[in-house]
Amino acid sequence: MNNILKIEKIEKYYGNKSSLTKAIDNLSLNVNEGEFVAIMGASGSGKTTLLNCISTIDKVTSGHIYVAGEDITKLKGNKLNAFRREGLGFIFQDFNLLDTLTAYENIALALSIQNVKVSEIEKRIKKVAKELDIEGVLNKYPYQMSGGQKQRVASARAIVTNPKLILADEPTGALDSKSSKMLLEKFNYLNKELNATILMVTHDAFTASYSSRVVFVKDGKIFNELIRGNESRKDFFDKIIDVVTLLGGDLNDAL
Ligand code: ADP
Repeated sequence: MNNILKIEKIEKYYGNKSSLTKAIDNLSLNVNEGEFVAIMGASGSGKTTLLNCISTIDKVTSGHIYVAGEDITKLKGNKLNAFRREGLGFIFQDFNLLDTLTAYENIALALSIQNVKVSEIEKRIKKVAKELDIEGVLNKYPYQMSGGQKQRVASARAIVTNPKLILADEPTGALDSKSSKMLLEKFNYLNKELNATILMVTHDAFTASYSSRVVFVKDGKIFNELIRGNESRKDFFDKIIDVVTLLGGDLNDAL
């Protein structure tokens, strides 16, 4: 199978000699094309640092991260900008939509900065809007939409450029349970039907139970891993809860 993401022995330190924090400790992880992986861990375990290193917002102290075979820890200048623009799709907890643009314009922006033709933009937005069930809100501004609708618009924006990898940071964190369920079902659709590769950080066992694999991080290291296989979502959820209980700490509090 094709490795879309290959993380090789990365370390990340913060601070200086007098006060050094090891946020990521010799962590390696591979994600195959078409996988939907959830990263879980208590607060302070290194999840955000890991995501920031993959998204090139932050730099690793040592080790390598390959996306579709390219070592992104080495990218600079135009190549780095092109990677961020074309290689990745981002979905954030607080949606990050531009308030002065409609849903349609928010999605179109992702394509127009790639110089995609207007007729092609129209075609692609029509398709993605149908897939994410947001056809009815395309002409609305973010303040006119529910949280669930905003997150599906943000997901449309992330997927419309056909990125190699979608990174989602607590995507259901600001949603009620009904909207979370609908969003996660859309993630499953994007993953299964469009072969999108998704890496999602979450505190929430219910959210993680929609993925095909859960990687548990503790003290900057991989602590455990669960693969869903043919299990039902409910059975997978129960297994995730077992590991969360074992991990203890504030991950328990988040349930
Ligand atoms: P999580 O996302 O799992 O809550 P983080 O990746 O935010 O964890 O943090 C991992 C560790 O690195 C924590 O001990 C945190 O305090 C530390 N850390 C994160 N960012 C910084 C920073 N910019 N400067 C110093 N320490 C940091």
